[in-house]
Amino acid sequence: MTADYRIQKEPFYQPQSNEVALYQAAYQAKLPVMVKGPTGCGKSRFIEYMAFKLGKPLITVACNEDMTASDLVGRYLLEANGTRWLDGPLTTAARIGAICYLDEIVEARQDTTVVIHPLTDHRRQLPLDKKGELLQAHPDFQLVISYNPGYQSLMKDLKQSTKQRFVGFDFDYPAPELEASILSTETGIGLADAVRLVKVATAARALKGHGLDEGISTRLLVYAATLIKAEVDPLDACRMALVCPITDDSDIRATLDHAIEAVF
Ligand code: ADP
Repeated sequence: MTADYRIQKEPFYQPQSNEVALYQAAYQAKLPVMVKGPTGCGKSRFIEYMAFKLGKPLITVACNEDMTASDLVGRYLLEANGTRWLDGPLTTAARIGAICYLDEIVEARQDTTVVIHPLTDHRRQLPLDKKGELLQAHPDFQLVISYNPGYQSLMKDLKQSTKQRFVGFDFDYPAPELEASILSTETGIGLADAVRLVKVATAARALKGHGLDEGISTRLLVYAATLIKAEVDPLDACRMALVCPITDDSDIRATLDHAIEAVF
């Protein structure tokens, strides 16, 4: 079972600073970790890399507003000859000693989020109320959540009582030279094209708050680079990957098109 959740091949991860050593320290102390930053900037890749490096299984859950506590903890299933308990991903992780990564935790409702509380303090326990079991987390278990501060609103935010159970890592888009080298390693495109893509992203990121809710993510740059590598015309690749998904505003689209034409 543990083997099912192990990462088989070392993921490529380009560190931005000393986050690898800091994460290792947090893991050794079994502190719950929060990774904060805009979408597509390398948070999940970082956690995959750390799970691989630490040799621990990783169980990832994409959180959404329909998710209930039972989706995390588990439920009884009706079967022909009775009922059978099925552990949810959080319970499985606590049992087998995995890193449990709750991606975009703010998407989940607060009554769902509170189930993680007893796992994040010194008790490291998970009460399975419906099953009448109090699960003691495996010593290797660690809880990690990701959080996009850009989407923060009064309606959708973590409670202080949840936030203050974690140590945090601030993530952002990698510095331009690093980001270009990531694109090149990840997709195999030449460094010159990678640098051009990052220039487009830098221009677009300056529009955040001036017509764009979020800048172009590293993930979208990887998409554009993949298309260019597949010999799609760079202008088409940029429009498909860097303009169309992020805005429908014709003025902003024109500004982005202009930046792309200036660079390629
Ligand atoms: P998110 O922050 O939304 O979890 P991801 O971790 O999925 O974002 O990153 C999106 C993509 O960007 C990855 O699949 C990877 O290709 C690339 N990427 C971003 N940062 C890095 C990095 N530091 N090293 C390697 N790849 C990265």
